[in-house]
Order: sequence, then structure tokens, then C-alpha cells
Amino acid sequence: MSSFHHAYPYSTPLRTVEIDQVVDPSMLCPYCDEPLPCNPTSQLNDLLATAKQQSYGDPRPQNPFGLKAPLAIYISACQRHRFETHWLPEALEKGWPQSIDFKEVPKRVESMKGALEDLITDADDCSDNESSVYDDIRGPRARSIFWRELKKDIQRQGSRTTTGVKGQFSTFEKTQPGYYGELGFLIIHQTLYNLFPFSSFDTSLIAPLSPAEFVQFVLIPEVAVRLIMQDLHLDRDEAIMTLRESSQYGVSMFPDVGSGSAVFDDDGDDSNYESVADRIVMERAKARRLELEEEERIEERM
Ligand SMILES: [Zn+2]
Repeated sequence: MSSFHHAYPYSTPLRTVEIDQVVDPSMLCPYCDEPLPCNPTSQLNDLLATAKQQSYGDPRPQNPFGLKAPLAIYISACQRHRFETHWLPEALEKGWPQSIDFKEVPKRVESMKGALEDLITDADDCSDNESSVYDDIRGPRARSIFWRELKKDIQRQGSRTTTGVKGQFSTFEKTQPGYYGELGFLIIHQTLYNLFPFSSFDTSLIAPLSPAEFVQFVLIPEVAVRLIMQDLHLDRDEAIMTLRESSQYGVSMFPDVGSGSAVFDDDGDDSNYESVADRIVMERAKARRLELEEEERIEERM
């Protein structure tokens, strides 16, 4: 399972080495011919079964049980297959959770209110923005790697254009909270919004960011790092590394359930999880509408 995850689903790399070995063809993915995980989840089996109904047999030398179908038919089965062969073993090895009690997340975030308040109100006036040995005696904002990196980016770009930071939203949004994934992003975002409505920000303290950007690029990763520290008993630096390493895993494992590609746990209380997720998504939609209105008002004033 060396580099298969880079291969495109419909290209079939020659794998002479593996063909020489005895590979049970029933253990190969019928679409991309790569080995299936030894213990596929019921979710993967369901996806494969659904795709199979709309596929036709296409025996290939390297895979006599090969199937063919338009990409759209099998893409989610194949993505899940690759996820389970690559990301799940890595997650297991590194101790990243395969289930998260998302119901507890809002409470956990709320308990960070004081520390987050310090981050918001501690304007970082120091002109040197390098991480230094003096970090410990500088304020909480200056110690935030997320703030420092962002500030450096903005300074590098010269005068800040609104598209500068916003242009990166789509990718950033998905990679921010590490293994908490998109669902974690939504829940953390909503909880933060309840704690710190955009109108409550003194924009001079967070310049050049808007409240929405500050929440998204500084507070969300700060929260996620603290959650990861608690989950895995890591120190801050280790948790930041984990946050970055596990982001892609998080996106696949805990997607935005509103997007229709929900991944639920196989081991038990799915219904519970689903109803919580539903509620969260509904609440979020409502909150997001308020945010947008507020963002507009703030931008008009700026
Ligand atoms: Zn596959």
C-alpha cells in the first residue's frame, strides 16, 4: 500500500510485484484494482454493493472480478476504500480518535472562554513577529502560532486585499481543526459565535483581520489544539503537529453532515449521532445567517 493513494481511481497502475505474489482477487477493489482493507467497515461494503448494482463486469488480467461504471457511480466507494486502507491505519497507529463525542464539544469549548478572551483582547503590538525565546513573557496573542503565521503572510503580501485571506477560505476551512474535521469545524465555529458574536469584537484589537477571519483563522485552530491536547494528553507543540497531520483524516472521517456525504460510526449509536448532527446543522444554518448579516454591517462600517 505504498503510494496507491496518489493514483487516480481510473488509472490502473501496473503492479508487477504484487501480481507475482498470490493476491486473492476477491480482496481487490473491483474499480481501482488496489487491495481492499482486510477488515472493511460495513459502510464500505454498503458503498461497494450500491455501486455494483450500477456496474457491469469488466474482467482484467490483474483483476478477474473487475467492474466498470461511470466515475460518479463508484467514486465514493473508491474514496472510502482508499481512506480505509490508508488513513484509518495511520489514525490507529497515531491514536487519532475514530469517534468523537461531538455533543460534549460545545461545553469543552465554553470552558476555554477565559483563555480565548485573552487571545481576543491581547493586541499584539510587538513589531518583531518572529517566534523567539521571549515568547513566554509576551502576551497570549503573540504566543499563538496561528496569529503569527497569518500576520507574516499578510505582511509578505504587502497591503492586504480582502481577497488575500478570503481567497484561501475554501481550503483553510476544511483543514483547520485537525481530526475534528468539518463537523468539528461547524460545531466549534457555532460555539465560538455564541460566545463571541462578531459585534462584540473591538476591531482595532484584531486588525488587520475582521472578526469572522479572526475566529476562523486564529480561534478555531486555537480551540482545536486545546481539544487535541486534552484528548491525547499532548503538549502544545505536539498538538499543533497532530492538528496539521490529521486534517485530511478529519475531513474524511467527520465530514459536514449537511453535505449529504455523512460518515457515521459503525459501532453503535448512529441514530443519536445523526440527530445531534442534524440539530447542529440546523442551528448552524440559523447562526450563519445572523453572522452574514452582521458581517455585512461591520464591513459597511469599515
Ligand atoms: Zn478502489
